[in-house]
Amino acid sequence: MLSKVVIANRGEIALRILRACREMGIRTVAVHSSADRDLKHVRLADESVCIGPPSSVESYLNIPAVISAAEVTDAVAIHPGYGFLAENADFAEQVEKSGFIFIGPRPETIRLMGDKISAIHAMKQAGVPCVPGSDGPLTEDEQECIQLGRDIGYPVIIKAAGGGGGRGMRVVRSEAELLNSISLTRNEAANAFGNSQVYMEKFLENPRHIEFQVLADEHGNAVHLGERDCSMQRRHQKVIEEAPAPGLTPEMRAQIGGRCAQACRDIGYRGAGTFEFLYENGQFYFIEMNTRIQVEHPVTEQITGIDLVREQLRVAMGEPLSFTQDQIEFRGHAIECRINAEDPKTFMPCPGDITRYHAPGGPGVRVDTHIYSGYRVPPYYDSMVGKVITFSDSRESALARMSVALDEMIVEGIKTNIPLHQMLLKDPHFQRGELNIHYLENKLK
Ligand code: ADP
Repeated sequence: MLSKVVIANRGEIALRILRACREMGIRTVAVHSSADRDLKHVRLADESVCIGPPSSVESYLNIPAVISAAEVTDAVAIHPGYGFLAENADFAEQVEKSGFIFIGPRPETIRLMGDKISAIHAMKQAGVPCVPGSDGPLTEDEQECIQLGRDIGYPVIIKAAGGGGGRGMRVVRSEAELLNSISLTRNEAANAFGNSQVYMEKFLENPRHIEFQVLADEHGNAVHLGERDCSMQRRHQKVIEEAPAPGLTPEMRAQIGGRCAQACRDIGYRGAGTFEFLYENGQFYFIEMNTRIQVEHPVTEQITGIDLVREQLRVAMGEPLSFTQDQIEFRGHAIECRINAEDPKTFMPCPGDITRYHAPGGPGVRVDTHIYSGYRVPPYYDSMVGKVITFSDSRESALARMSVALDEMIVEGIKTNIPLHQMLLKDPHFQRGELNIHYLENKLK
C-alpha cells in the first residue's frame, strides 16, 4: 500500500493525481513554488511544501528540493506527472536511490527511450514499424551520408538523438543541402542537448499523428488501450486530441497496439506510456515513446472506462494490472480541447486574474482544470489551464457536445483559446475527420 505520495507537478495534472490518490485512500503531499500557493490541489492536499521560488529551475526542476520534501513528510512515492522531471532518468534514479518509489518506468527504460536512436533500435527489434532511415547515428563519412539520402529518397529529415519538444530537426529537400544541414543540426544538438548524434529519416509530407497508450506491470503483463489521433497541432503542440482515430480499423488497432504491448514486455516496461507514430497511406511509422502519463490521457479513459492514473498507482504498489487485453473494450468517441491562457489570434500567453469562471456540464462532459473564480494564472509556466473532454456514442455527437460545452464555458479576466476551438469545431474538414499534422498551421495562414 502507498501510504503517502508526493505530487511533483502543478496545475491540472497535479489535481488529477491528487483526486486519484484520495479515491484510493492515499495521503498526498503537494510540492509547489512560491508562485503556486493558491493552486487548487495545494489547498486540497494533506500536506504541502514550498520548494522554491517561481522559476521552475529552482522549484519544479530542483531535484534535491523535491526529494527533501519527500523525506521531511515521510512520503513513500513520487508521482512526476508530465513535463518537468517526468522523463528525467537521473531524477528517477535519485528518487529510487533515496529509497522512494518512482511512479513511472525504471530509470534505465527512461534513458533507453529518451535517446531517439536507441529507442528506434529497440522498437525495430520488437517488430514495431519505424520510419525508413539510417540504422543508428550518421557517421562523419560524407559519401556514406549522400548514399543514404539517395537510398531513402528526398525529402529527408535530420533529427537529433537527444531532441525533444519539436526542436533539433531539419527537413532536407535535395542532395545539395544535405551535408550542410547535417552539420548545422549536429552543432545545434550539441549546444541544446549536449549530444551531437543525429540520424536521418524519410520525411513524410502529410502524415497524421496517431499514438498508442500502453500500461504494463512488474509481473510481465502489458496491454494497449487503443490509440489517440493528435493531428491537430500548432508548432508541434497538440491542440485537439481524440480517440479512437477516425477511420482506423479494429484489425489495425489490434495489430499495432499488440506490437506496442509486446515491445513493452520485451524492454521490461513498467507503468503508463505512449508510442507515438506518424500515419500515412495506411502505414504506421514509430517516431518516439513517452515514458509518462500524457496530457491527452482522458480521451482514452473515456472510451475504455479505465482510470490510467489509478493504474499507475497500482503498478507502483507492485499490483498486477486490474484487467487483461481481452477485457478492454472500446466504446464511443471522446474529444479533448486544450484550454490555454493565450490570445486566440496571436497565441501570446495571457496570464492574469480569472474574475469569473463557469464550468460547462451535462452528460458526456468532463472538465480537468485547476482554475476557479479568483485564481490568478501566474506568468511563469505553461499556458495550458485545463482541458474540456466530451464523449458520446459517435464522433459527430461528441463534437456537438464539445460545441455546446465551449459555448457554455465562461472564463473572464484572461484571454483563452476557446474561440479558436469554436472555429475549428465548425471546420468541415475537421468535422469529416480529414486531418494531418500540418492542417491547422495551413488553415491559420
Ligand atoms: P519531439 O521529441 O521533439 O516531439 P518527434 O520525433 O516526436 O520529436 O517529432 C515531432 C514532430 O516532428 C512530429 O509530430 C512531426 O510533426 C514531425 N516529424 C518528426 N519526424 C518526422 C518525419 N520523419 N516526417 C515528417 N514529420 C516528422
